[in-house]
Amino acid sequence: MRENKLSIHSENILPIIKKWLYSDKDIFLRELVSNASDALNKLRIQLGEEGDFKISITLDLKARTLAIEDTGVGMTEEEVEKYIAQIAFSGAEEFVEKYKSQTEKEPIIGHFGLGFYSSYMVASKVEIDTLSFLPGSTPVFWSCDGSSSYSIGEGKRSSRGTKVTLFIDDKSSEYLEIQKLQEMLSTHCNFMPFPIDLNGKPLGNQEPLWTKAPAACKDQEYLDFYKKLFPLDIEPLFWVHLNVDYPFHLQGILYFPKVHRRFDAKESAIKLYCNRVFVSDNCKEILPDYLMVLRGAIDSPDIPLNVSRSYLQVDKNVKQLSSHISKKISDKLSQLYKQDRDKYIASWPDIELLVKLGILQDEKFFERAKDLLIWKSSNNQWAPIQEGTKQIVYSTTENTPLLKLYQEEVLFATSPIDTAVIQHLENKRNITFQRIDGALDDRLLDKEKDKTLLDEEGKTESSRIADFIRKSLRVEVEAKSLASSELPALIILDENERRMRDYVTLTQGKSVKIPTQKTFVVNTNHKLIQAIHKLHQTQPEMASSIARGVYDLTLLSQREIDPSQIDELVHKQTEILEKMASLLI
Ligand code: ADP
Ligand code: MG
Repeated sequence: MRENKLSIHSENILPIIKKWLYSDKDIFLRELVSNASDALNKLRIQLGEEGDFKISITLDLKARTLAIEDTGVGMTEEEVEKYIAQIAFSGAEEFVEKYKSQTEKEPIIGHFGLGFYSSYMVASKVEIDTLSFLPGSTPVFWSCDGSSSYSIGEGKRSSRGTKVTLFIDDKSSEYLEIQKLQEMLSTHCNFMPFPIDLNGKPLGNQEPLWTKAPAACKDQEYLDFYKKLFPLDIEPLFWVHLNVDYPFHLQGILYFPKVHRRFDAKESAIKLYCNRVFVSDNCKEILPDYLMVLRGAIDSPDIPLNVSRSYLQVDKNVKQLSSHISKKISDKLSQLYKQDRDKYIASWPDIELLVKLGILQDEKFFERAKDLLIWKSSNNQWAPIQEGTKQIVYSTTENTPLLKLYQEEVLFATSPIDTAVIQHLENKRNITFQRIDGALDDRLLDKEKDKTLLDEEGKTESSRIADFIRKSLRVEVEAKSLASSELPALIILDENERRMRDYVTLTQGKSVKIPTQKTFVVNTNHKLIQAIHKLHQTQPEMASSIARGVYDLTLLSQREIDPSQIDELVHKQTEILEKMASLLI
């Protein structure tokens, strides 16, 4: 047995590893199992045959050890020196260089960086017993207690493969619990390509569906696989199977979930794998926000996992990968839109958030998806905005009395995010939007019926009604002859101020009281307004309270009244009714 020094570029790298990786100690097991899986994979490539390929994990409570053993290629003494002792050297990289042509189908996991050394997060000492598959090899034993010196020499192992034994330290006793290990394995190693057992009991890991050719997968398989990934979820709507070899490797299945969950970037449900090893369920740095609405799994060895998060966002591979996924998603939506419009429309409540966020956040997605953005309108049809449309009247609720005013269709924009979408469309396309209560459209007026008769003071009848109501209510009033005689009055809100209010509400996530300029428009074509007009000459007080009543009810019908004022409103209306009832007795 010889003593030797670890060849590390920085003297104190082990403490750094411990600290750097500390936030997720659990990953040591995934790293060691991946190494075992790599070793088996290398052997499969070398020997080109199925053989006794397996990974065994053994817990020894008495000795406080956890051993990860494989029947893979093993290591010669030279290799232990080179790949284990010289941390800075990436063995996998050299291997991939050497066996490039064969490895393209089953690439080697080698992207976790200091994988082997993560064992020192939980162990005070690590031993390696290994025997290379190369004929005539001698077994090697290596041992290191986490300081920068180690011992190496001839070992006793008699069968091909490697056993890594961790002497679990006092602070990490949780890793001596079989249940804890089971949980970690079923999270990280469920889809590993070789059988794994824990103290002799098979883990039951299986083939992930994403490795199968998309053309060979049946719908039921996709649905079953979804259940495996998200046992508690209800059936998804549809999915996209990703399978790219060039210019990067990417496989995966992304599902559009049915229940429209509240959008929350933290709640990401896309599981990230690297060569079938679960890495994280946080794809935030890799995928744009709007795709976080999806659920599923992606597997790519080309995502650099050992670099900082901010670096990921500028990484070329990651960028290409996310734009590829985004393209696939819009292709799927567009295919569905063309081939099964009814299903597309029925799914809209579940997919609209993705489409709308994508349109807001991603220029390229906007170009691809702008015609997939559909709106319901007052004629009960769903359609995208017609090319060439210049002006659109929309409503943020489907039941407003103002709809009565419009002959032509009114578009419904009922989702909170529509405020932003509308703004975006106005900027991008030559369209203006006006909310149904945003202006008094000329189209709504009956110019002929307009009371334009002048009286002796040179005032029109309309302006007299307006004057009276303005004086008694102290609000901005206009009297107009509307084409419809069904609606006594409406309230017009300044479009810009209202948008500002909606915007603040959207960004703060709660309704905000920002005063908006209101104009009370009374319909001189409605019997009630005409009656108030007559009444004001004989009983001005009564006329004034009725006018106030109409104003309040109009606010209420347009949802422009604060809930806290409803009691007061009801009280006032009751008073008016009481007065009227007593007049009738
Ligand atoms: P990486 O896996 O990224 O190369 P690791 O630190 O996890 O980095 O492993 C370093 C190297 O040690 C591997 O590339 C491999 O050559 C060797 N190695 C580790 N574990 C095993 C094993 N179980 N069998 C054979 N070789 C191994
Ligand atoms: Mg590794």
